[in-house]
Amino acid sequence: MKENYLNPELILSKDDMKQYGYTIIDHIVEHFDNQDSKKPVAIATREEMDNLLTEDIPNLPTDANKVLDFVMKEIIPQSTIVSHPKSFSFVPGPSNYISAMADTIATGFNIFSGGWAASPAAAELEILTMNWLLEIFGFGTKQGGGIFTSGGSMANLTALVTARRIKCGDDFSKAVIYLSDQAHSSNIKAIKVIGFKKSQIRIIPTDLEFKMSLNKLKNAIAKDRLQGLEPFCMIASAGTTNTGTVDPLDEIAKICTKEKLWFHIDGAYGGAAILADNGKELLKGIEKADSLTVDPHKWFFQPYEMGCLLVKNHNWLSGTFSEKPEYLRDVEGNESEINFYDHGIQLTRRFRALKFYMSLKTFGLDSFKKAIQYNIELAEQTENTLRESSKWEVISPATLAVINFRYHPIDKNLSEKEIDLINQKISEKIMNSREALLVTTVLLGQVVLRMCLINPRTTINHITETIEQCQSYGDELLA
Ligand SMILES: *Cc1c(COP(=O)(O)O)cnc(C)c1O
Repeated sequence: MKENYLNPELILSKDDMKQYGYTIIDHIVEHFDNQDSKKPVAIATREEMDNLLTEDIPNLPTDANKVLDFVMKEIIPQSTIVSHPKSFSFVPGPSNYISAMADTIATGFNIFSGGWAASPAAAELEILTMNWLLEIFGFGTKQGGGIFTSGGSMANLTALVTARRIKCGDDFSKAVIYLSDQAHSSNIKAIKVIGFKKSQIRIIPTDLEFKMSLNKLKNAIAKDRLQGLEPFCMIASAGTTNTGTVDPLDEIAKICTKEKLWFHIDGAYGGAAILADNGKELLKGIEKADSLTVDPHKWFFQPYEMGCLLVKNHNWLSGTFSEKPEYLRDVEGNESEINFYDHGIQLTRRFRALKFYMSLKTFGLDSFKKAIQYNIELAEQTENTLRESSKWEVISPATLAVINFRYHPIDKNLSEKEIDLINQKISEKIMNSREALLVTTVLLGQVVLRMCLINPRTTINHITETIEQCQSYGDELLA
């Protein structure tokens, strides 16, 4: 490809496009085929990245292959491989090849997924896949609705704006919102974004199993009413990010009905577990929510970005987000032809439904079910392995594929402080080895190692290798 010639049309020749595209596909396929043998952890300082990447604005063209080579050699390898089978921390992003290619199509054709008129099939596919999700979660497709978002954070934000519109109208000065101390930080962020004061938020303590304490919730609501405040919204977690714990959804639903609260469930992490037998049992009551966040880019194996908000009544969304600027007048269409820009915050939206559709259709829902069931059982198997060892202590049992544990040999008389320090050091050492992504979290004041096992390519061997590596660090530190 030509260098040093200005290209104001921003185009490549047909042959150049093919060669360029095939090279990229080769890189991606190589990664999918070979990622398991790479090291998942990337660590670099700001200084190192500055040295690698800082340059002046490139006014003149550079050869396309040169730019691509640089990106593949220097930029892409400097990221954590969240789809690696030893990527245990945060929430892994296992992804899948079909969806990665679907995203490539969506971007390649630059499909505008905002309104019906621009792309009727894209809107219809969002309605169709949303109906599949509504069915899966027992929301009903007649009244139910929803929207795909960039992620769980945006889905929670969209839910809270809707809840406030429906329950409070314009005056929310006395409204109070409830969530547990294990709820995801994105909820607090969303509450702040939409302009609630700190004094309108109640953080309800959790019990020893990290579930929201119903007694404390009832006390808080009653107190607020006595003070003339207006309890309006409850946020429960269906799979906390820390421990996979599900709040008592059925009981919370009853409280919400009695107190006339909006019932939002944040199932960004755990929602997908409804596809597994034992997950379904744990998530009982999820169908009673007014709104539900799930995050297909987590446990539905989609690449970033894809979140989703489901609601019991699609009119709640259009009633909250419809605005009618003059230039959209001509493209409104009839009511059944949904304009998703009327159901959420974004006007211009990428075609997220495509990857969900193509991957689900290609692999079949039963494959997803099997994968999720496998993940849940893998965590239980990990728990058994840890319990059989005299060196490890399980701090929170395997729940929705999350397990928390710590190095704590029973024959050594270690103080809590020493145990914390050793586990912190174990995590540092394994991260520095770059063999596994495994960081700590804090539960009940204890520093613990946390594994989130939603990658269907992770095997018990990947896990035992990592635990053995951690154990040898622990033993070394004690010696
Ligand atoms: C990950 C997560 C979120 C935030 O979702 P993003 O997709 O990262 O924006 C919200 N809630 C829970 C429970 C999560 O696990």
